[in-house]
Amino acid sequence: MDLAKLTRLAGPRWIEIEATALEHNLRVVKGLLQPPTRLLAVIKADAYGAGAVEAARIFLATGADYLGVTTLAEGQELRRAGITAPILLMSPLLPEELPQALTNDLTLTISSRSGAEAAAAAAAMVGRQARVHLKVETGLQRTGLEPGEVVPLAREMQYWPGVQLEGIYSHLAEAARPGAARRQLDCFRKVIMDLESQQVSLPVKHICNSTGLLLHPEMHLDMVRAGTLLYGQFPYRASRRGLELKNPWRFKARILFVHDVAAGTPVGYGGDYVVKKATRLAVIPVGYADGFALTAVSRPKNLNDLARHLAKTILAYLGRDSAGTAVIIGGQGAPVVGRVGMQLSIVDVGHLEGVKVGQVVEVDIRRPTASARLPRVYCREGQPYLVRQPSGDMEPVVSPAKGILLPEQEFSN
Ligand SMILES: *Cc1c(COP(=O)(O)O)cnc(C)c1O
Repeated sequence: MDLAKLTRLAGPRWIEIEATALEHNLRVVKGLLQPPTRLLAVIKADAYGAGAVEAARIFLATGADYLGVTTLAEGQELRRAGITAPILLMSPLLPEELPQALTNDLTLTISSRSGAEAAAAAAAMVGRQARVHLKVETGLQRTGLEPGEVVPLAREMQYWPGVQLEGIYSHLAEAARPGAARRQLDCFRKVIMDLESQQVSLPVKHICNSTGLLLHPEMHLDMVRAGTLLYGQFPYRASRRGLELKNPWRFKARILFVHDVAAGTPVGYGGDYVVKKATRLAVIPVGYADGFALTAVSRPKNLNDLARHLAKTILAYLGRDSAGTAVIIGGQGAPVVGRVGMQLSIVDVGHLEGVKVGQVVEVDIRRPTASARLPRVYCREGQPYLVRQPSGDMEPVVSPAKGILLPEQEFSN
């Protein structure tokens, strides 16, 4: 497909998602599981930026058994798109949301007795079964039943008419730290044993996320919940174990404007970047409103962390921040200079030959914070087949060879 056509479809910037990479990664993860273990593909947060609807279709067609999202709206989006696979809502809902969750046939997470009662009430109200998974608090301290609450509640719930107890799960806080993970796994295992000793059946037991499934194969149980690995990324500090994942993601933008500036020229808002020697600047249609150049800042954990943080800040002040934001043009890096704007950014291309308006730049961006308003262009072996517009509308890319009848063909018989 040529650039002009792609730009007419998607505008001057877009995120390319390669379907075969998502398929590959799903197969790799499935290959780590023993057959009875099912795979729940986590597609929360717009499939970590890849676009939930198409990612869901790809994963389901490649062998995912279940989908996982966080919010009711995320579940509804998938149902509206015609996806009928089971979907687990991995967060508690507010009581007002429950009827819609049930009419959309979404599996509920139950994290408290009052949540269980609200689910049963909503089920009676809408005349549907509430399919539920109990969530156990084992160490993340986010949501869940205390381990001691599980057995008494589950024993009662077995007999509630509108409720189907399908599963039980927990979530790891620090899957890569062996001690902490071990304590959580042991706690979960003990809850499961207690349930079994009381003959309470909860068929689908699961605790592993990406790190957990890599590091604790003995805890795959009935299902694992994988996100990060499916999108071609390795969780922080997890071992790669020789796994070959593929990156499905490329964020591209076309240069809108190029101009030359003299030494000493202040650049961008606040003029806080001053060019040292005469150079050429290129403007790209990407800014912080798109999620570009946003960094997560968390409190330094120890003195080492603090020192690293300070060193970075000082280097940035001196203009020697090697980890500064950069884009790739024709295979070469070019720094983003001046403050990143809301929707436009400036790139110093003085060291590159022949940079022109219209040229394609590859941009790095934190994926889950990449705006849903950036079009997603789905490709198969590099060939676009579907565009998700900023409105959310899906537009198939029809090639003349496959879809549309050309005039000659129309009149040939
Ligand atoms: C996000 C999430 C996952 C997936 O985690 P990854 O580390 O991305 O695999 C699994 N379970 C729950 C409850 C989650 O919120």
